[in-house]
Amino acid sequence: MSEHYDVIIIGSGAGGGTLAYRLAPSGKRILILERGGYLPREKENWSTDAVFGENRYKAPETWHDQDGKPFHPGIHYWVGGNTKMYGAVLLRLRERDFGELPHADGVSPAWPIAYRDLAPYYTEAERLYHVHGLRGSDPTEPPSEDPYPHPAVSHEPRIQLLSDDLVRAGHHPFPLPVGIMLDERQPQDSACIRCATCDGFPCLVQAKADAHVVCVAPALRHPNVTLLTGAYVERIETSGTGREATDVVVTRGGETERYHGDIVVVACGAINSAALLLRSANWAHADGLANGSGVVGRHYMCHNNSALIAISRTPNPTRFQKTLGLNDFYFGDADHEFPLGHIQMLGKTDAEMFQGEAHHLLPSFAAGKLASHALDFWLTTEDLPDPDNRVLIDHDGGIRLHYRPTNVEAHQLLTRRLRHLLDHIGCEPHLLPQNAYFGKRLPIAGTGHQNGTVRFGHDPQASALDAFCRAHEVDNLYVVDGSFFPSSAAVNPTLTIIANALRVGDHLLERLGTRSAVR
Ligand SMILES: Cc1cc2nc3c(=O)[nH]c(=O)nc-3n(C[C@H](O)[C@H](O)[C@H](O)COP(=O)(O)OP(=O)(O)OC[C@H]3O[C@@H](n4cnc5c(N)ncnc54)[C@H](O)[C@@H]3O)c2cc1C
Ligand code: SF4
Repeated sequence: MSEHYDVIIIGSGAGGGTLAYRLAPSGKRILILERGGYLPREKENWSTDAVFGENRYKAPETWHDQDGKPFHPGIHYWVGGNTKMYGAVLLRLRERDFGELPHADGVSPAWPIAYRDLAPYYTEAERLYHVHGLRGSDPTEPPSEDPYPHPAVSHEPRIQLLSDDLVRAGHHPFPLPVGIMLDERQPQDSACIRCATCDGFPCLVQAKADAHVVCVAPALRHPNVTLLTGAYVERIETSGTGREATDVVVTRGGETERYHGDIVVVACGAINSAALLLRSANWAHADGLANGSGVVGRHYMCHNNSALIAISRTPNPTRFQKTLGLNDFYFGDADHEFPLGHIQMLGKTDAEMFQGEAHHLLPSFAAGKLASHALDFWLTTEDLPDPDNRVLIDHDGGIRLHYRPTNVEAHQLLTRRLRHLLDHIGCEPHLLPQNAYFGKRLPIAGTGHQNGTVRFGHDPQASALDAFCRAHEVDNLYVVDGSFFPSSAAVNPTLTIIANALRVGDHLLERLGTRSAVR
């Protein structure tokens, strides 16, 4: 016998958590199944050694790459998913990102929806996730009549100097939109204390707008919503025709349990959602659930991301550094007609991070000196959807991730543009004589921006989901995490995952006949 629910949501991160929040007021019986538990609140939340040195909050998983080489993915299984650790930079895709866009390395395909379809949900997502920003300051941002719900987070003096230097050099830096509960006008009442350990760390005081704090916890205040933690979903079963998902099979506390849902929503993150569908193959879905098109697991994208650290002569005592973005090269520039990507500040590096990177070969005084002069940047270039970049299941059930980067030259050009800029803006005299930079492209384990593995589209031959993220082949099965992206654009993905979950939520409320009750 399996327990019956109106809606089962698998995964409680940006997609699943937000959907639960949207559906909770409907009164329908909703079950959230989450493999992780609650992230412990402890002083290690803000310890660089614990978080980066010991990987205290990363899932203890080993995956394999296309050559069979093992790696430890940068993935986190908690209530709230990867948003517990994220940097909370919440940007909209650009309007042109929704259309077909030529790149140096190929074509970024169009989405089955336009920016205008998502725009009202972006506005709502910004409200829900406490986004602080300044509308109109980013020249590439898509149109919106709604101001950000909170004022932009102020620059600390060194970042203000960088911003002024960039403006003097003819550029258009803008305040990064971030989802933190900071009130700079009344700091005595602010939940966020503007600390130096935000990007990549959990928030000890729960002031980061993560999916647990802003969505799952409020959803659970409704008596019709149940969360089971430590509930690993093994597979989804279907009716005899294969047209409906029926049972969700869960391993919890060493036991197998079954739950029945009228609607089943997969939101395990792009890699684990694809893996779950592939594991759920049956006679009606021989190549994986909802995979008649063969696209499930394919077109894995994660962005060309790299960190670039410039050592400046001017000290940089900034605590919260993630306040500045630059999109002047997003769609290319006078010397390059194709898109290059987005630049933003990283969370501030500290001495332990430098030592960790140098495998402790660097004496601590030297690491401290470097860190106190470092300006830390994060560069993102779109990677293109290649069917051979894919998630597979090994014979032992483990995850195998095939990934060869695309659009690499564009990323190198973006990096060169930033280096050149740093050499030539007003801060030039502050750079060390040899202009010491540490540039590092994230390896395959950098799965933070994973997306694209269960793409949506109008054509059932070329996509697994329809425009409402419902499986073409399984009437009551939906996917609402980062899997649905047909292209990755070049901004952080989470605001789009959240906005889409709200959109799909409205579709489900209509389907359940309860939308007017919620509104
Ligand atoms: C260090 C770091 C910094 C980041 N910074 C930013 C940023 O500044 N801005 C931004 O936009 N994005 C950022 N990201 C990315 C962001 O975290 C993800 O885009 C977002 O969390 C993805 O949402 P999701 O719903 O697709 O998946 P997730 O948030 O990963 O949620 C998936 C959930 O499903 C659960 N799950 C998985 N498999 C199963 C299973 N079989 N059964 C049950 N449960 C399962 C997982 O435990 C998890 O809770 C960052 C990521 C990292 C790691
Ligand atoms: S900066 Fe604010 S939101 Fe981020 S970890 Fe620190 S207190 Fe939390």
